[in-house]
Amino acid sequence: MRLILLGPPGAGKGTQAKHLVDKFGIVQLSTGDMLRAAVAAGTPVGQRAKDIMARGELVPDDIVVAIVADRIAQPDAKKGFILDGFPRTVPQAEALDRMLHQRALDLDAVIELKVDEGILLKRVEKRIADMTARGEPLRADDNAEALHKRLEAYRAQTAPLIAFYARKGTLHSVDGMAEIEDVANAIERVLAAAEPAENR
Ligand code: ADP
Repeated sequence: MRLILLGPPGAGKGTQAKHLVDKFGIVQLSTGDMLRAAVAAGTPVGQRAKDIMARGELVPDDIVVAIVADRIAQPDAKKGFILDGFPRTVPQAEALDRMLHQRALDLDAVIELKVDEGILLKRVEKRIADMTARGEPLRADDNAEALHKRLEAYRAQTAPLIAFYARKGTLHSVDGMAEIEDVANAIERVLAAAEPAENR
């Protein structure tokens, strides 16, 4: 199974991706996690991405596309994967189409987590407050200013993907404001009803 989880920062993509990993035994490919690992390791990609990410802006498409192309070629991605945080721009989505086409693969579903922006800000602010209270290290982009930038980037660059995938007929929208369990169940229902890519 190959899926994309689409939604703004704080929509719950990571939480739902982990649930799907347990359920279906496929891997979660989070470009945010991969880039943070590159930053922590101080690789050339990490050095290019570090300040861009801290500001809440998007890392250039060529960097992210190269990372994903490498990652989906790994043996553990054979069984399927959930893309979390990718694609984030129309050119990234087009590059993904080409990558999959080259491998004769297809997407089974694109799942949009729909959330209310006001609540979203509160969610992320709460996550920051909770982590601070527990003494956990914050992400460099977990602050009000970067968060606004991340939302702006989502609106301007990522939201157009909703229409992009709706045109392809692979888009399914789920209410991301419901309880975690209910969102997970709604996603499972969508997947059960979605026509497998190999039958299309
Ligand atoms: P969020 O919690 O905001 O959804 P992520 O962990 O997915 O964040 O990503 C954090 C940051 O990593 C982004 O703000 C961006 O700078 C960079 N990034 C992650 N994925 C991509 C991508 N597909 N294209 C460009 N930049 C990305």
